[in-house]
Amino acid sequence: MPELPEVETVRRGLSPAMEGVVIDRADVNRPDLRWPFPERMAERLTGQTVQKLRRRSKYILADLSSGETLLIHLGMSGRMTVSGDPLGQFVHEHPITQKHDHVVFHMANGARVTFNDPRRFGAMDLLQTAIADDHKLLSVLGPEPLGNDFNEQHLIDAFRGKNTPVKSALLDQGIVAGLGNIYVCEALYRGRVSPRRKAGQISATRVSALVPIIRKVLQDAIEAGGSSLRDFRQADGELGYFQHSFDVYGREGEPCRTEGCGTPIKRITQSGRSSFYCAQCQR
Ligand SMILES: [Zn+2]
Repeated sequence: MPELPEVETVRRGLSPAMEGVVIDRADVNRPDLRWPFPERMAERLTGQTVQKLRRRSKYILADLSSGETLLIHLGMSGRMTVSGDPLGQFVHEHPITQKHDHVVFHMANGARVTFNDPRRFGAMDLLQTAIADDHKLLSVLGPEPLGNDFNEQHLIDAFRGKNTPVKSALLDQGIVAGLGNIYVCEALYRGRVSPRRKAGQISATRVSALVPIIRKVLQDAIEAGGSSLRDFRQADGELGYFQHSFDVYGREGEPCRTEGCGTPIKRITQSGRSSFYCAQCQR
């Protein structure tokens, strides 16, 4: 499932193909994904210039010249591919249409952007740009972890009196937007905080320390995604999925990498999701 760094990588990969470019034609090949598409979606996209391609949490937002914004959510299995870009960044030939190519954007610069989603947990919607933040998916979101509103005081205030484990608190999209299971595990490991510790019981100093750690974990992953984009010419044109090495996520039973530790990494289930941590280093 794509997390924030993967979505940001997709956004960066789409940008040269879409930003400032007219959508010559949009093919909408079915009525819905997770939810029905907005009415007349193909018509409302056709002829519009993508003025800006933004990201909010795990959503890609394309601001159109019509005053509407196209919201794209990759869901569990949504994939975006770019082919045929004349700028030479994407030298892939247009592929033969695949099953599950649900939406295809034919860009005026010759690029073709395809949204493929076999499981259809993805979503697209059109919102009025001016009031996009009021959309039901966006209005519930807390600050962006890489933005200025996510800071030490914000996290201290959000954790104060909270009886839930810190793991759940960081997954709460109202506290910080876009953090998912993988990067929360990684951040807590780097911050040496046990995922089981109650958020309200962590000292202000340790909570504050988590802020730059969370940013760094995400920035490192975005950087890894950036390298994957540079290798893009050899790839199949698919954006956003790249190889990672995690310090703790997915390493159950393997030795902790902290120098002098080596304790086997533990896995527990919290709110139905796996938490990986070192019981020795993380308190
Ligand atoms: Zn350890």
